[in-house]
Amino acid sequence: MVAVSTREYTMFINGEWVAGSGEMMEVVNPATEEVVHRVPLATRADVDAAVRAAREAFDDGRWSRLGCGERSAYLFKLADLLEARTEEIARIETEATGKPITLSRDGDLPFGIDNLRYFAGVARVLDGQASGEYIPTHTSMLRREPIGVVAQVAPWNYPFMMAIWKIGPALAAGNTVILKPAENTPATALESANAVKEAGFPAGVLNVITGDENAGIALTSHPDVDMVSLTGDSETGKKIMQQAAPSLKRVHLELGGKAPFVVFADADLESAANCAAMAGTTNTGQDCTAATRLYVERPVFDEFVSRLTTAMKEVQVGEPFSEDTAMGPLISREQLERVEGFVHRAAESGLTPVIGGKRSENQSRGYYFDPTLYVDVPQDAEIVQREVFGPVMVVLPFDSEEEALQKANGVIYGLASSVWTANVTRSLRWARDLKFGTVWINDHMPLTSEMPHGGFKQSGFGKDMSIYALEDYTQIKQVLAEVTGQAYKTPQPDQHLGA
Ligand code: NAD
Repeated sequence: MVAVSTREYTMFINGEWVAGSGEMMEVVNPATEEVVHRVPLATRADVDAAVRAAREAFDDGRWSRLGCGERSAYLFKLADLLEARTEEIARIETEATGKPITLSRDGDLPFGIDNLRYFAGVARVLDGQASGEYIPTHTSMLRREPIGVVAQVAPWNYPFMMAIWKIGPALAAGNTVILKPAENTPATALESANAVKEAGFPAGVLNVITGDENAGIALTSHPDVDMVSLTGDSETGKKIMQQAAPSLKRVHLELGGKAPFVVFADADLESAANCAAMAGTTNTGQDCTAATRLYVERPVFDEFVSRLTTAMKEVQVGEPFSEDTAMGPLISREQLERVEGFVHRAAESGLTPVIGGKRSENQSRGYYFDPTLYVDVPQDAEIVQREVFGPVMVVLPFDSEEEALQKANGVIYGLASSVWTANVTRSLRWARDLKFGTVWINDHMPLTSEMPHGGFKQSGFGKDMSIYALEDYTQIKQVLAEVTGQAYKTPQPDQHLGA
């Protein structure tokens, strides 16, 4: 265990570190149950100050009117500074989340930095329809412009990566941002702000406020915010839509998931079982794409369950700073109790896990919960239908492709899914028929900065990563210029004056 002392942070508003006008709140290390960080609890006055700073920075064009090459250079510099501090930031991330240091250092940090570099590059190549004389006397052209002041609200499961996924496309497109990280994991967003200051970004372009739900409400309902982006729970997404409605803000929502993992008898069972164990327990199952609902064709069901059980028992649960640890604790006591609540309610309805279902006995402290597997439970059981956000998986048999598809699609969520089969035609049919924003074939979990990540159904709308995220943070303006000196006359049959 790396010894750490409690770090005190302030907020980042208008290019300055500010203590804010409220109290401090504490961040607890979920592996040790000790306080590791103290951060301000933003008040409405702090939120107002951050929005004012972002508004001024947007309106005077200090960021949006830079050449896109200049904005790109700032973002590349930010990526370089963060990369140089990978070890340190990964350690801070692991202190607050309890995730294995190998995941923070070798996964989340490099992937977040790659994402930033992707947006730094792509900021220079925005697409649009060609300019031209769609009306013979006029030239039509498109401008792709930033939205303005963007409020971004992040979750606790991948604090650094989620912050970067959000600020990368928003800043690349020329917006100014107020970011509110989750209350229990604000530190690495503030470390990112530190790098923004060091990179010399103009004041007010990125502001980071820390606080709880109340700060989130004040921010996302603020009349001077133009767009709200949330990564969080589906229920929070619904509230944010309402909070954003009075001033009709654009809304971008990356919400919960309950990913199906469908295994046909012709699949490579060993790969599938090992991947399922990894994809159900990575980040202690606190992953919106986690493989939580497994459907396995009946002839191979028992063999698959046996392989999966073995693989889950081999998941190394332990101290997050150990290089051998594959799974750490849940994020908080509250989350531990939430996961236990699912297990207790399942027990009340007669369901018993084949492994796990309890706090880890070999850990003397921390919010550890054992990898847990339920076998052959009803499709309408709560643990099949609802996002647990813990290392709890269910595996159900199926007899026909139709039954499997209906069950795989039979939840309110639509974020990510996978199908395992050696049959190419079937895999492509499933890619068409699964109602999820991502379909993996013979794999589960890999993502890349160049491709979009986002939900269908109650997993939200709008994309993270890829050119589509950049588009989400821009708006299209039509410019129509009279170019012949002749007044516009009667439209041709296929030309219109517009609404
Ligand atoms: P959460 O919704 O409880 O909190 C997310 C953020 O919203 C926090 O910063 C919180 O302070 C803030 N918040 C809460 N209520 C608010 C309100 N009414 N107005 C404004 N802000 C508010 O989510 P969480 O527990 O931090 O994260 C877990 C959830 O995030 C899971 O559902 C998970 O699936 C989802 N998630 C989705 C993705 C994705 O890409 N789709 C990625 C990661 C996590």
